[in-house]
Amino acid sequence: MAQEVKSLSMTEVIKAKRKATVLAPSQLACLSKLPTINLTAGCAHECLYCYARSYSQNPGQGRVTLYANTLEKLRDELPRKRKRPKAVYFSPSSDVFQPVPEVLDLAYDVFEYLFSNEIGVALLTKGRIPAQHMSLLCANASLVQAGIGLTTLREELLKVFEPRTAPPQVRLLQAKMLVEAGVSTRIRIDPILPGLMDDAQGLEALLKAVASIGIKHVAVSTAFLRPPIIRMLKGHVRNKRVLHVLLSHYESGPILTMNGAGTSVIVPPAPIRKKIYARVKQIAQRHGIATSICACKNGDLANGSCHIAGDWLGEPEARRQRFLFDSLESVRRQE
Ligand code: SF4
Repeated sequence: MAQEVKSLSMTEVIKAKRKATVLAPSQLACLSKLPTINLTAGCAHECLYCYARSYSQNPGQGRVTLYANTLEKLRDELPRKRKRPKAVYFSPSSDVFQPVPEVLDLAYDVFEYLFSNEIGVALLTKGRIPAQHMSLLCANASLVQAGIGLTTLREELLKVFEPRTAPPQVRLLQAKMLVEAGVSTRIRIDPILPGLMDDAQGLEALLKAVASIGIKHVAVSTAFLRPPIIRMLKGHVRNKRVLHVLLSHYESGPILTMNGAGTSVIVPPAPIRKKIYARVKQIAQRHGIATSICACKNGDLANGSCHIAGDWLGEPEARRQRFLFDSLESVRRQE
């Protein structure tokens, strides 16, 4: 892999040439319908709970590997596809709006190319969307389905666990701009850190703010842990009480297999998760918001889709999926 190293003020960018196919499907069941693109390995947001930090291709703290030839490869790959994708998802293991100029420039060019080919963009971000990118997304509203990740309004917690993401009020404002432009937009309350972000007061403030900007759907999940994530948390969370509160919720938690990916993860015990999801659902309902539980990370409690990548199915298929999901839900309620 040809590499060129360039230093930025906070994040070192390693430019690399991607050899593998750009439009690769994700192993996760909820992302299996769309091709996905990671513009980088590693993510400058450096969330402490991020599963992708333990991936072998992650270049480590303070660095990202930028796949600089992504657009070039896409231009070569797309015309040769027999069936063009309806949309592309950004990104399964990085954030497309991470605060690195080279990443943002490439994201703009790739979005522009996809839109010019009538291909949609599904995205999930916790980052700051630059004005130029926001204008491009809004101008192509019918081709965009956006998810904004936001678990709490408490900045003191976000500063510890998501040190370089956009502040909550910025994320809400961005979601509002997208909604007003006609972009299908959801808020993703994931990952909720149990014991820290699941109290009724905090959720009430969050969901009230979410409702006030016209959001009608949230997806929810608690955080899952794996040994490298636990090591990361122990190494970086200075407040030992906060660390203890969080980890104590996983002490007797089961090990689940993530739906589709086959990865084993530690989750809080089912009664704890059920209680948290019921609380979110109840508060959300009061504010006129529908809730989906992420089934990939809660295979023992939920099924159906949390629409992490939006809803790009044709109406008949979407109706069929809704019917299946509703039937399963009613069977579960009777049990
Ligand atoms: S924004 Fe997403 S991909 Fe980036 S560090 Fe945070 S959790 Fe990981």
